[in-house]
Amino acid sequence: MNHVTRIVIIGGGPGGYEAALVAARLGARVTVVDRSGIGGAAVLTDCVPSKTLIATADVMTTIQDAPELGVEVNGVGRCETGVDLGRVNDRVLALAEKQSEDIAEGLIKAGVEVIRGTGRLIGDGGTVRAVEVRTAEGGTLTMEADTVLLATGARPRELAAAKPDGERILTWTQVYGLRELPRELIVVGSGVTGAEFAGAYQALGSQVTLVSSRDRVLPGEDQDAAQVLEEVFQRRGMTVLSRSRASAAVRDGDRVVVSLEDGRTVTGTHCLMAVGSLPNTEDLGLAEAGVQTTPSGHIIVDRVSRTTASNVYAAGDCTGLLALASVAAMQGRIAVYHALGEAVWPINLKRVSANIFTSPEIATVGRTTFNAESDDPNFDVVKLPLDTNPRAKMLGFKDGFVKLYARPGSGTVLGGVIVAPRASELIHSVSMAVDLHLSVDQVAAVFTVYPSLSGSVAEAARRLHSDHEE
Ligand SMILES: Cc1cc2nc3c(=O)[nH]c(=O)nc-3n(C[C@H](O)[C@H](O)[C@H](O)COP(=O)(O)OP(=O)(O)OC[C@H]3O[C@@H](n4cnc5c(N)ncnc54)[C@H](O)[C@@H]3O)c2cc1C
Repeated sequence: MNHVTRIVIIGGGPGGYEAALVAARLGARVTVVDRSGIGGAAVLTDCVPSKTLIATADVMTTIQDAPELGVEVNGVGRCETGVDLGRVNDRVLALAEKQSEDIAEGLIKAGVEVIRGTGRLIGDGGTVRAVEVRTAEGGTLTMEADTVLLATGARPRELAAAKPDGERILTWTQVYGLRELPRELIVVGSGVTGAEFAGAYQALGSQVTLVSSRDRVLPGEDQDAAQVLEEVFQRRGMTVLSRSRASAAVRDGDRVVVSLEDGRTVTGTHCLMAVGSLPNTEDLGLAEAGVQTTPSGHIIVDRVSRTTASNVYAAGDCTGLLALASVAAMQGRIAVYHALGEAVWPINLKRVSANIFTSPEIATVGRTTFNAESDDPNFDVVKLPLDTNPRAKMLGFKDGFVKLYARPGSGTVLGGVIVAPRASELIHSVSMAVDLHLSVDQVAAVFTVYPSLSGSVAEAARRLHSDHEE
């Protein structure tokens, strides 16, 4: 009789559940152990809830910008709008819960065993033969495993001097408990999460102060894109405090006082702390099992998701490779393919498309100025402002651009940055070009709809050809 591979997956987020579906399809016996709910933080507290909140914020932005297109709401030339945050958050949480249920149902239908509980490796020095599970009901199970996949994710980092109280000093997982819109919201941290929430709450009607320790919002992202976003934020009335590192946040009755390292203070009704994440790797029995971690606690993996223990793989935010649901899912699938002896392509981060869900959105793929200069300075670049695009003019979109990178000589598309409403949907053509090694001429030769925002992608490709010929 053939041996059926027994795979135990600790963590039911995208790193875990996507791997489970693939493994079950390939004939393995699969168990997913999760302590907080299938879908993980991605579905229950991070990705899905934030994008659902942002969907409401986007509608608000559209309405606020509508008078420019001749729309009259409550009088000529102005729009009076407001949100019922209780209803918005009820919708957010219901949608996340339903998404979690749908994924759990899909797993069970695929033949995956799902256990609510906390998992931990049982192993001594290099090979793991079982996982111990403390179940939600209070029991303990020992699950034998040929292969273990760790996909335990991450949680918000907390500062000792700015302890979240869940009421007025909040992490991004706690904001959905609010029933009323924060009147004055201080967002500490101007990375992707801080910028997304700052933009969303400003659109919903809060007066937002964004506290950034760096020169500009979105450090580490495309600088042209970050500049556009910062200008839009300020034009919409947000206060952006750059080079301002927060050292503490404390309650003062119904207010919150945020202290900055240079001695200044900022006050508001609420404060959202968005100062990064910590990997959930403390109580997994890693050291005993021979699974090495970095000083930050992330699990060390190679490009096929192998850890330093022979039959243990890891995927997603617990590895710190790139904190995206899409990357977690890909790492998980790769782990399973590898473990089951299937053909496998090692993960290639240069092909990852990512999006920042602000208004306008910022979508990137492949090489951008930020990484191209350090990685490989050999590139041509063209940047087309969005306000040169006829469709954008009709829609009243002024802020943004399409930027394309290509290899001089061959014209191979290396990457791109799109700053535009729904840039997340527009980047796909650039992703295809990067993935398939298309040339700018091939991209330019494809018909685009007239008028359309995607016309700017083809036009940028066309310009790269003529730039190259000059
Ligand atoms: C606010 C915010 C918005 C985001 N938006 C996006 C986005 O739009 N697009 C995108 O691609 N990415 C987004 N991300 C990133 C994305 O959420 C993460 O990259 C993704 O959740 C990683 O998936 P994962 O499977 O590694 O872990 P998670 O989704 O964190 O799931 C891990 C699961 O494992 C469980 N677990 C942990 N330890 C144990 C244990 N010992 N036993 C059992 N279970 C355990 C956890 O409780 C959790 O349920 C966002 C992140 C944040 C913070």
